Amino acid sequence: MVNALEATSPKVVEPTVFDLSSPGRVGVRMPASDVPAMEAPPPHLLRSELPLPELAEADVVRHYTRLSSFNYSVDGGFYPLGSCTMKYNPKINEDVCRLPGFLFTHPLQPIETAQGNLALMYQLQEWLKEIAGFAGVTLQPAAGAQGEFTGILMMRAYHKSRSDDKRVKMLIPDAAHGTNPASVGMMGMTVVTIPSDSRGNVDLNALEAACDDTVVGMMLTNPNTLGMFDENVEKVISLVHGCGGLMYGDGANLNALLGIVRPGDVGFDVMHFNLHKTFAVPHGGGGPGSGPVGAAEHLLDFLPDPLVGIVEEGDDETPPLYGFITPAKTIGRMKTFHGHFGGGLVRAFAYIAMQGPDGLKDIAQYAVLNANYLQAKLRDTYKIPYDRICMHEFVAEGRFEGSDVRALDISKRLMDYNFHPPTNYFPLIVPEALMIEPTETENKDTLDAFADAMIKIAEEAKTAPEVVKSAPHTTRFGRMDEVKAARELVLCCWLPEGYDLS
Ligand SMILES: *Cc1c(COP(=O)(O)O)cnc(C)c1O
Repeated sequence: MVNALEATSPKVVEPTVFDLSSPGRVGVRMPASDVPAMEAPPPHLLRSELPLPELAEADVVRHYTRLSSFNYSVDGGFYPLGSCTMKYNPKINEDVCRLPGFLFTHPLQPIETAQGNLALMYQLQEWLKEIAGFAGVTLQPAAGAQGEFTGILMMRAYHKSRSDDKRVKMLIPDAAHGTNPASVGMMGMTVVTIPSDSRGNVDLNALEAACDDTVVGMMLTNPNTLGMFDENVEKVISLVHGCGGLMYGDGANLNALLGIVRPGDVGFDVMHFNLHKTFAVPHGGGGPGSGPVGAAEHLLDFLPDPLVGIVEEGDDETPPLYGFITPAKTIGRMKTFHGHFGGGLVRAFAYIAMQGPDGLKDIAQYAVLNANYLQAKLRDTYKIPYDRICMHEFVAEGRFEGSDVRALDISKRLMDYNFHPPTNYFPLIVPEALMIEPTETENKDTLDAFADAMIKIAEEAKTAPEVVKSAPHTTRFGRMDEVKAARELVLCCWLPEGYDLS
């Protein structure tokens, strides 16, 4: 059983493009210039030497294609990275966002010549309002975390506009996403942590005790990072509203609620979406993210500047004229130009248009079904500390009695079975946490195969713990020495020999 996977990882040093370089090889032939020649900048601004690798196009393509084949990807296999919603991203979105009219627009083009793009942004704002039950939406924020920052700025501006200056505390449950307290910290506000109760809900007594007139509001990740829908969400919101606070919804995991619950209807005042999770914008390689923010009626005036609006109504013959509008008490601009238009907004637009209302509801139902199916298959083997019907994900403990195999070892071993590991060591309130989010795009065969691998690894932890603890064995690189990596940090990029950045 174990032998096939036992090959030790080769000690390989990958060549860089500089190693592959050979003087005189050419990758591109420049055409003759068709613009007037300009004078070069003065010599003291010019480098005398700039060592660049010399390679042919085929060499470069092969080099990077080979490197890319060492990566794991959502197009290559199951990727249950909890909280990240690594669902399959339909390829039609790629076609749509590469349509020349979208691809080649310049953000400073006159609005009369970019009406299609503005119509798309306007419609996306409208759809997100309808999906989550809000009165207004900004598409500017570049990611979920920037959406949080935007929302908190709006909450602060709201209190200030009412001369309510005492409010400095943000209430955040211990089952919240880590970006929540980080965003609050960036604002110079104080985080007050609210514990979870034994069912994974906000502890109502602790919340009640913390509610006073210094509270800016509360940030609630719902479903939370345990994958639990807060059973008392309406009570939680009424306690926060009762002391004059505002309710921030972390909507990054809206995948679980689409078409079922609208956070705005439940009483959330402001919330961010993660287009790169819920709405199938590819992510994981560093971008582009997109974190639009929805706001209830009483926060509309504080939204970032500008929003896309109709500046001249149309009629039967002429379409409306779209343009930019400035909310009355805006917190200002949050992002250069208009957010991540092509990479984020166009893809999400195509995805929502393709799904329609019924498709969106299916997404939530299958996401929740898949997570509960996996949880049921694993609960006899792995301890599930908050064991009730989960939403789009659940958290198991990656440890076994009488064994020193840990969550990290299980995750590394999963790579030998060709699965991406789940999220590790988060949330902090579960020891050796393995946070598993299958998403709705996986079929039963894949879920069964993953559950089989997890159960097999639990057996190995008893019968062959060393194999688990030294995994992965089949990947291009073996396990990193994390202690050495932390002690001997190399933060600088690699530089060719003799090249000095100064
Ligand atoms: C991913 C996530 C965030 C942060 O989103 P980014 O786009 O990575 O900044 C915030 N909250 C929750 C619950 C998330 O899952």
